Amino acid sequence: MDQSGALDSLLQEERVFRPLPQLVIEANVNPQELDAARKFAAMDPMGYWEEAADELDWFKKWDQVLDDSQSPFCKWFPGARCNIVYNALDRHIETANKNKLALIWEGEPGDTRKYTYFELYREVNRFANALRSLGIRKGDRVLLYMPQLPETMIAMLATAKIGAIHSVVFAGFSAKALRQRINDAQAKLLITTDGFYRNGRIIRLKDTADEALIGACADCVESMVVVRRCNLGVDMVDGRDFHYDDLVRQERNEAPTEVMDSGDPLFLLYTSGTTGKPKGIVHSHGGYMVGVHRTLTTVFDIKPTDIFWCAADPGWVTSHSSGVYGPLLAGTTSVMYEGHPNYPQADRLWSIVARYGVTIFYTAPTMIRMLMRFGTQYPKGHDLSSLRLLGTVGETISPEAWIWLYKNIGRSECPVLDTWWQTETGMFMLAPLPITLLKPGSVTKPLPGVEADVVDRNGDPVEPGKGGLLVLTRPWPAMMTGLWNDEEGYREYWEKIPGRYYAGDVARRDEDGYIWIQGRADDVINIAGHRIGPAELEAAFCVHRAVSEAAVIGVPDRIKGEAAKAFVVLHHGFEPDDDLIRDLKRTVRNELGPVAVIKSIAFCDKLPRTRSGKIMRRVLKAEELGLDLGDVTGLDDE
Ligand code: ATP
Ligand code: MG
Repeated sequence: MDQSGALDSLLQEERVFRPLPQLVIEANVNPQELDAARKFAAMDPMGYWEEAADELDWFKKWDQVLDDSQSPFCKWFPGARCNIVYNALDRHIETANKNKLALIWEGEPGDTRKYTYFELYREVNRFANALRSLGIRKGDRVLLYMPQLPETMIAMLATAKIGAIHSVVFAGFSAKALRQRINDAQAKLLITTDGFYRNGRIIRLKDTADEALIGACADCVESMVVVRRCNLGVDMVDGRDFHYDDLVRQERNEAPTEVMDSGDPLFLLYTSGTTGKPKGIVHSHGGYMVGVHRTLTTVFDIKPTDIFWCAADPGWVTSHSSGVYGPLLAGTTSVMYEGHPNYPQADRLWSIVARYGVTIFYTAPTMIRMLMRFGTQYPKGHDLSSLRLLGTVGETISPEAWIWLYKNIGRSECPVLDTWWQTETGMFMLAPLPITLLKPGSVTKPLPGVEADVVDRNGDPVEPGKGGLLVLTRPWPAMMTGLWNDEEGYREYWEKIPGRYYAGDVARRDEDGYIWIQGRADDVINIAGHRIGPAELEAAFCVHRAVSEAAVIGVPDRIKGEAAKAFVVLHHGFEPDDDLIRDLKRTVRNELGPVAVIKSIAFCDKLPRTRSGKIMRRVLKAEELGLDLGDVTGLDDE
């Protein structure tokens, strides 16, 4: 076995997709400009990010672009003063954006609300004033236990406007998971809703919030704000609980924007918990704003007429950067949908795209896999011609799912932009642009100003075609500024491979320098000395027409050390039998070669996932081996 820990790469995906000439002509960044940006950023990274920062408004400019004297702790734009909300809202009120739609929201029952930048600005100001009158001050933690409602966006912005720190907790989390986060963040205020609509039902949320507060740390959560969504009767504790509408009704339309240091915390967000205990990732006003603004506008080629729909839940970083802050910084129009993608039937997303003329649709592979199972008749029933770009994030997308999306949603015209990033990175790191030649399943290359490498355990680059550990080799502006109350935890990211940021993912680089994410480092399978990333094995299963999705884990094997076991979900209409098992094994072998021996295949109706929809292989493995499941508060047990 290779002692350095490099991985074998078995997947040979050779299809390539070129952007249409019209798209290249109209792109904000054309191929020559991208080339020039890469060269500039490589020669003068500080100059590159300084130029990006100059596109935004600051109360006072920086003394320096980056202070890394306390490395791995980095200060971006030290000495500068700013507030991200000034750039996301306040400044638009002085321009033609004032009367443009900032948010189009649709509730699951079909009700809608729309906010212009001016209306959103005023609503945020009113709630900012309300927060101040509740005693919330700069640096206080405000926890949002909220589904996809306009008030979620409003509360995030109002909190940031007054310099407090928001932490959004996914509304699907249990009382226990919420309590854990309240305690860890020492939250002073909790914002929630009476309930929300999900798959035709009303989910009561305030009740769960109340339950979470029983046994929460004594000196946190002095007050609770409750948004009325479903007009439910809920218990209100006198002096502690307030209805949102009662609070904002009496407030003024103007509110001062707190002047923040560039490095002051903006939000705290717990990671999805795919691999273990959730970590509280901290992002700051200045660096985060620069990194998100530059990467979102570059990758998604934002135009004044765009309608941008990031379908992620506000509980995840995807929505923070690409649903709330990014689109507002870019002055574009965002779409938000409250409910279940299949309610009342499996075409809800396409009906939303068609009705609002969505131009950019950004989602996760899990959503695509689910929609694929329902077939193409649902998208076919809608006019999706407004779509210009598609994007995915969160997991490796199998080439089959990529092509399904490209053909059936994107009319074989819209590039599918596979973006790799993390809660920790804050912004897109490895991603194509609309002008990029695409290979389905590859996240292409680092964006200008980002440097990544694929290395072995010693930190030495592995040769093209081999897999290894994905690392980031220089700081970037939207990098987390730390882990909440966990300095050691933050240092660990930089200590595994000294001086480099260890992403925890395995990847390979091909001959063209394209990067293919092979999965999480913890999920690597070692078959007779061949180390293989689960994403490649799973992608090979997905080539078979019966397979909807697959998860592959390593199980102990007396001869080979480890062998692969697959958990397979079949498309509707297929039944598991011995012929199918043989056929699946043959498909995988044809795709990947003789190394990819599949020891056994189990069929199941669904795979264990995080609440953000990612496959949790560690749960499959623990169940298979009868081990302790570890922290499963992040497990979706719906
Ligand atoms: P935890 O760190 O608690 O285990 P998590 O890593 O799932 O949770 P996130 O920060 O939401 O939390 O997800 C980032 C991870 O998602 C990446 O490290 C990677 O494993 C995966 N990921 C994100 N984008 C892509 C992509 N385009 N292709 C493949 N994997 C991706
Ligand atoms: Mg992670």
